Amino acid sequence: MARNRFFVEKIEDEVSLTGEEFRHAKNVLRLNAGGEVTLLDGSGKEYSAIVTKVEKGRLVLNVLSEKDSDREPKTKVYLLVGALKGDKTELVVQKAVELGAEKIGVFSSAFCSAYMNENKLERLRRVSHEAAKQCLRTTAPEVFYFETLDGALKSADGYENKLFACEFAKKSEKELLPLSGSCALVVGSEGGFQREEFSYAKELGFLGVSLGKRILRAETAAISMLSVVMYGLGELR
Ligand code: SAH
Repeated sequence: MARNRFFVEKIEDEVSLTGEEFRHAKNVLRLNAGGEVTLLDGSGKEYSAIVTKVEKGRLVLNVLSEKDSDREPKTKVYLLVGALKGDKTELVVQKAVELGAEKIGVFSSAFCSAYMNENKLERLRRVSHEAAKQCLRTTAPEVFYFETLDGALKSADGYENKLFACEFAKKSEKELLPLSGSCALVVGSEGGFQREEFSYAKELGFLGVSLGKRILRAETAAISMLSVVMYGLGELR
């Protein structure tokens, strides 16, 4: 499969690349007629395609073949992280996609001082797409924003393991290794959590997890917790 990968809405015999994907293909990768690419439609399949025409604002491709990919994780892992300052949330989204997160929720909470808007959320979604292509995934995890911790926690209903990394948890109520079944992981922002937030999460069925005696930066906590969980689920082997 060709290394240049593009997400498209729908696969048909003839597919058009427009918008951002078109600009990237034309201006950055300088693709011309005859160029080979891999198309992705988020279904888990990869499609081999060839550029047949370069038009104004559109690249036309012919799909040649399709194959199933085995690069998507077998277990669903949902990462929920507090909105971080600067470009830290982007960093976490990028790493979470590489590590195999199924989807990512960003939330605001009592001690959270970063804000979110449509542009930032759009940027996070682009980061997810780019990371998915770079690490050869076939789906780009969705990125959601929750204005409240409550909304974020409730979005994890139904996950078999609901784990809440808490900087003041004395010990883990659930060991991360070994682990099986779908997981929702919650990590706070730079400001951390209020005691009441932790108690409320427990009422909703979350188990407190300690990541050790040192206080990790939020991005370190999110990436390391996800790495350990993915390892435990057999994904990093
Ligand atoms: N401002 C807080 C620290 C927040 S760290 C303080 O000064 O205490 C950001 C987030 O990373 C936390 O909310 C938690 O989810 C996670 N985290 C960091 N270190 C942790 C640890 N040792 N155990 C569990 N979670 C941790």
